Amino acid sequence: MKLVFRNIVYLYQLEKTAAKVAELSKYTKELTKLFSTKENILLICHINPDGDAIGSQLAIYHYLKSKGKLAGMISPNNLQEFLKWMDGVEEINIFIRHREKCKRLVEEAGLIVMLDFNQADRLGEAEIPVAASKAVKVVIDHHLDPRNFADLMISDPSKCSTSELVNELITEMNGGRFLNRSFAEALYVGIITDTGNFEHGLYTGSTFRMVADLLESGIEKEKIHNLVYNNFSIDRMRLLGFALNQRMVIIPEYQTAYIYLTKEDLAEYNYTKGDSEGFVNMPLSIKGILFTALFIEKDGFIKLSFRSKGDFPTNRFALKYFSGGGHLNASGGDYHDTLDNTIKYFLEALKEFYAGLNQSIG
Ligand code: 5GP
Ligand code: MN
Repeated sequence: MKLVFRNIVYLYQLEKTAAKVAELSKYTKELTKLFSTKENILLICHINPDGDAIGSQLAIYHYLKSKGKLAGMISPNNLQEFLKWMDGVEEINIFIRHREKCKRLVEEAGLIVMLDFNQADRLGEAEIPVAASKAVKVVIDHHLDPRNFADLMISDPSKCSTSELVNELITEMNGGRFLNRSFAEALYVGIITDTGNFEHGLYTGSTFRMVADLLESGIEKEKIHNLVYNNFSIDRMRLLGFALNQRMVIIPEYQTAYIYLTKEDLAEYNYTKGDSEGFVNMPLSIKGILFTALFIEKDGFIKLSFRSKGDFPTNRFALKYFSGGGHLNASGGDYHDTLDNTIKYFLEALKEFYAGLNQSIG
């Protein structure tokens, strides 16, 4: 099947012109058709899923379930603790834990909807089976610079989160607000986690109007905040203290700070997945710091996270030097070398990148 919209990237800008609204309905018509005609719908989020990846995935799952369609779900790898309470997570198959089952789900799928990423390598081990699958493939995402690896790319970098975009699509498909508690909770988690509780990201008046609707639908804001943010272990709190005290380096000339954590550091504080979530944002609260990086030592490679204030393009930095990507102010990548060498390489990259930025400004 060849879709009419192949290769079209849907860039929905901040102001909603009539033409753009019409464009949204082109996509929702296509999605509605796919949802009603395709058997074995499969929803897949990105590797190391965050609140928005799982939130947007579960929101579509609950919407389809209400229409009598039970979609399968895959995450390339494990979920962090702060997401495990959400309604429906127990239905998400973890690819690296159940490879055969997940491969079968991909093979049998008639429609694969990929959420919150725009590069195929964000599928982790699921990338190869998904590429080989004959299913119609849809991407719903809000990251910059989408690569084309689907039949229908619904990409809107003006949205604060994939969850906001999913809400817009589903409201249109449903012919009005879709009211379901689990759906509303999932979208709310996606929005608060991708904006750092409305601190960063492209949230707008329409984001707040959507949040108003979610709150009015009866979700328990305080309960959700406690489950997402106030659920850390003592070890995690102490690791944060250690990281800020012993492992944070400031480079004033580049208005940059970085934090690094070795495998030994992680072991000492009984590190579990997600414990370093949010660490990279911390140094941005230092006066004058505009760019931050976090280096985490893994088996055979270093995982990097980047954050910035203002217009420092962390996504371009991540793409150029660390085969990564993301948003202007929040991105990530990785580097296959020792921690020492990665930090050395980072410092050289920083120097070169700043020189390039100054040239393009000058
Ligand atoms: P985090 O630093 O929280 O892991 O990720 C921040 C943002 O960067 C997220 O939007 C995430 O999707 C993106 N990101 C993180 N790591 C990678 C990576 O290795 N490749 C790409 N393309 N994006 C990444
Ligand atoms: Mn997102």
